Order: sequence, then C-alpha cells, then structure tokens
Amino acid sequence: MGQPNRLSVVQAYRFALDLSPAQERAVLGHAGAARVAYNWGLARVKAVLDQRAAERSYGIGDDQLTPAPGWTLPALRQAWNTAKEDAAPWWRDYSKEAYNTGLDALARGLKNWADSRSGKRSGRPVGFPRFKSRRRSTPAVRFTTGAIRVEPDRKHVVLPRLGRLKLHESARKLARRLQAGTARILSATVRRDGRRWYVSFTCEVQRARRTPARPCATVGVDLGVMHVAVLSTGVLVPNPRHLDAALRKLRRISRALSRKVGPDRRAHRDASKRWCRTRTALGRAHARVANLRRDGLHKLTTRLATGYGTIVVEDLNVAGMLRGRRLARRITDAGFAEIRRQLVYKTDWYGGRLVVADRWCPSSNTCSACGAVRTKLTLSERTFTCTTCGLVLDRDVNAARNLAALAATVAGSGPETLNGRRADRKTPPAGLVAVKRLPGTATADKTGTVPPQGRTSDHAPTAAS
Ligand SMILES: [Zn+2]
Repeated sequence: MGQPNRLSVVQAYRFALDLSPAQERAVLGHAGAARVAYNWGLARVKAVLDQRAAERSYGIGDDQLTPAPGWTLPALRQAWNTAKEDAAPWWRDYSKEAYNTGLDALARGLKNWADSRSGKRSGRPVGFPRFKSRRRSTPAVRFTTGAIRVEPDRKHVVLPRLGRLKLHESARKLARRLQAGTARILSATVRRDGRRWYVSFTCEVQRARRTPARPCATVGVDLGVMHVAVLSTGVLVPNPRHLDAALRKLRRISRALSRKVGPDRRAHRDASKRWCRTRTALGRAHARVANLRRDGLHKLTTRLATGYGTIVVEDLNVAGMLRGRRLARRITDAGFAEIRRQLVYKTDWYGGRLVVADRWCPSSNTCSACGAVRTKLTLSERTFTCTTCGLVLDRDVNAARNLAALAATVAGSGPETLNGRRADRKTPPAGLVAVKRLPGTATADKTGTVPPQGRTSDHAPTAAS
C-alpha cells in the first residue's frame, strides 16, 4: 500500500470446487448452521420489536419500554454465544465462522432496513429481513480467520474445519499473486451456484498501475437492445449468439418440468423423481445462460477499459425499462447494469476514465455532425437522417458519437467546447456525472466485509465541474 506505481484494490477470485460427498455434507452443514444463527437472531429481534410495539399501544412511556435489541454484529454475536447452548446444542460440530456468516448477514439486513427507513440509504426501500428457508436460500459459508490457503499444487485449497478441498480448475492466477506478495486473502466463501460449488477468495490486491493502449482516445458506448453495445468507432458488438440457443433449451426444459409431478406441501406430496431430475437440468441450463452472458460482458468491458483512455456510457434507467416484459428479457440479457459495474472498476484498474452521461441527454436524436436536434425519432427508425446537414448514419452509431463528444465537456476543456459545438442545442448542457469509485471503500461497513460477487456496491456519483 502507498506505493505510487501500485493500486490497492479489493478483488475476488472464484474457483469451481470438486467436493466429495462427505465434504459436500460438511459444507451444507456449515451453511445450515449459518441459517440457524440467522433465523435465531431474527426471531429474537422481531420478538423484542413486537413487544415494544405492544407496550407502546398500552400507552407505556418510551423510557419504560423493553430495551431495544442490539443488532450490530458484535451485539448479535454476544447474544448468540450466551444462548447457543440452548438454541443449538450441536454448535460444536461447526466452525464459529458459520454462525458469524449468518449473524453478519442479519446485521447487514437490519442495518439496511433501518437506514432505508430513516432515509440514510438511497434507492429502493429495503424491507425487513425475512426468515431463511432451507429449500430456497443459497447455501453459503464464509471464513474470515484461521487456516485459509492455496496449496502449492494450486489444485487444492485449505479451509478451516472443511480441510483440503479439491479445485475443479487451477488457482494459479491467485497463487502467483500470493507468492509474489501482491495479494492477501481477506476471506473465503464457499457457495453453491446452480448445481456447482465455488470457493470465492476476497483479496486485497496490489495491482500495477497501467495506462490504456490509447490514453487520449475516447469511445462512446451506446448500450442497446439490438446489440449489446455500439461503439462510436462504428463497431457493433452483437448479443452472444449461443445465448439464443441456450434460451431455447431453457424454454424446452421449463415446459417439460411443468408437465411433471412437482411437490405440493399442502397435499403432503413429494416431488416425483422425474420432476427432481428435470429441475436439476433446468438449473444447469440457467447456469449456462448466466455463464455465457458473463463471459461475453467481461470480454467486452476488458477490451474497452484496456483500449481507451475515456469511455462514455449513458445512464440508463434499467429499473424503468424492465417494466415492459418482452423488451425486459432482452435488456437483462444484455446486462446493462453489469456492463456499467464492470466498467467502473476496470477503468480504475487500467487507468482509464468512465463518464456517465445524464439519462435525459438527447444522444439519440441529436445530429453527431452538426448538433441539430431532431424532434422525433421512433424506436423503429434504425437510421438517423439529419434534415439540417444531410447526415445519414446508423441510429446507434450516431448516439455513440454524441456520447463520445460529451467527454470533452468533462475533460476540463471548458464550456467553450460545448457551446462551440452545439450552440443551438435546446437542452442545457448540465447533468454530466463522472463516476470514480475507490474499490472496497464504498461498502466496507461496520460489519467488515465486502459485497459478494456480481453485486453492485453503491458508489456515490460526483458532479463533474
Ligand atoms: Zn446534421
């Protein structure tokens, strides 16, 4: 840390595991222990809150109420340690990290709910935590202390209590960094994703500072439905084609599943063997779609972040767009939010800059050559035709070029650039937001962990001057 040519980031390395049946039982046991601790803590907090609400309704003064329950991680942990002998007499069978996993998740959930209610947390309102079900929750356990290491053969990892676990793939990328001393493991999480088990190491990594191949080049990226992205250079990045084939398969398996005899808890009917088998196949198909999508997005964002000094994207209202149903699947496929998330940290890694243009900036109905704004452009019009200068260009390329041009306005070259290029524009030029996130800083809360993979951490956008 602190070296000028190094960048300290928190980064995750995820590897697929090859668990033996006994190891799988041990991991499931730990995940179950985490769930028990979570549900125990939630029941306790709930009981006290209900008690206080009842007392208030009898007109008892605020100072006479049952004391408010402590729901920080230390408070929950202390309460658990005094109660565990009764609540879970088998507690010695599992690592204390298992209970910590559950209580930490609960502490975060309660904090998010409280912050959301008091207005300290922006975004969609967060509901009160709900009990975890054995059937529906994702089994996971996280280790933060003890013997966590990658074996010298790079094909095995060692975790507390679980011992030596075989990897499905080589951990050389992480092992090299550990050997060179440029990575430090902060925690290891074992989680089932689809039908497969993974171990994910959260590490503090010292990355060499890099500069993109063309530091002065700017690229505008128009995220779309027809294509994953259209670049201002004229390159069209198509949706991965194998995704459609995988989706066809997904639909076929879903239909097959609906014809089979599923479980019915009210009729006390267990699922048929065929239903279970088909559901396993469905889970695999889902996992494949997710993997294909993730791979495509990572390749695109790495190419952009290593190539260009400045990347401009549009701030799309994904939540609003998801309301329409058919378009919605396409959009989630393209993974807009995921592209944004990856660009934020990758521009940081590779020394580039990400500019996020305001949602209302008229990138698609402005002429990228002369700056004239057209009044109407329906979604079905795929070509942009300028009535002022006669420019004819693909609609998305035109939008991407407008985005690229916007970068100049935040580059500090002053308002002249903007007014000189687009003197006749009707929308005020304000509203550009440059996002720069320091990895690991935005989410590191009192509970002391980083967000799980694939989740967006909330970064505060700063108004660029
Ligand atoms: Zn024009």
